[in-house]
Amino acid sequence: MRIDVVTIFPEYLAPLDLSLIGKARRDGILDLHVHDLRTWTHDRHRTVDDTPLGGGAGMVMKPEPWAEAFAAVLSAGREAQGADAHPLIIFPNPAGAPFAQATAQDWSQREWLVLACGRYEGIDERVYEHLADQGHEVALVSLGDYVLNGGEVAVLAITEAVVRLIPGVVGNAASLVEESHSDGLLEYPLYTRPASWTDPAGTVREAPPILLSGDHGRIAAWRREQSRRRTRERRPDLLPADDEGPAPLG
Ligand code: SAM
Repeated sequence: MRIDVVTIFPEYLAPLDLSLIGKARRDGILDLHVHDLRTWTHDRHRTVDDTPLGGGAGMVMKPEPWAEAFAAVLSAGREAQGADAHPLIIFPNPAGAPFAQATAQDWSQREWLVLACGRYEGIDERVYEHLADQGHEVALVSLGDYVLNGGEVAVLAITEAVVRLIPGVVGNAASLVEESHSDGLLEYPLYTRPASWTDPAGTVREAPPILLSGDHGRIAAWRREQSRRRTRERRPDLLPADDEGPAPLG
């Protein structure tokens, strides 16, 4: 997969060199290019923002650098990916559609993503219209109902959620199957050794005995039940309205 990121803070994306995403880059699974939006400014101050038309607080990102940036990034990408390559252009935006595991699954099948980081009050609306008029697929996605200072943190989260689903990135592919949100439920509680743990306050805490039973069928059933309970308790909105699951955990 190729990913291009356009930002005024390229250093913000440095964590994408670490851990499994960094390894995916070194293994040639992820071809990541981070671009500085200010490359496509032409004044001494490398200006990317201006005051909002109609007045109001804050600054708005100007359309010209963005249009130039997309022209250059898309042309370089097509040269590398082939003339028929079809990017999905993604704008993190608190007013976008919710980004969810299903979105990450869908996007992990794409060959080319272009992610654009907004700053200030956001990007001039005509940039989205221009890209759509050019025939590009454009998606505005929100990480959640809160406001970040810029799109970089959202791009880190989106990239990690998407790239870890590409085959070969996470060592044990089975671990992706039972995770929270992969089947619409939250994950069951996890335990490891020691089975009996004395915590620093002196309380002995036992792992559920069923996990030591070796009965894989009963363990799977117990985990399914725990997933349902946990989802009902913490995220009832994920369950169908008529769900009659187990009582919430006490
Ligand atoms: N004025 C905007 C509004 O009220 O909707 C908020 C702009 S925010 C300060 C600057 C940038 O941060 C946005 O353009 C977007 O790229 C990013 N951002 C902020 N919150 C986000 C969220 N919840 N999800 C995704 N991106 C977000």
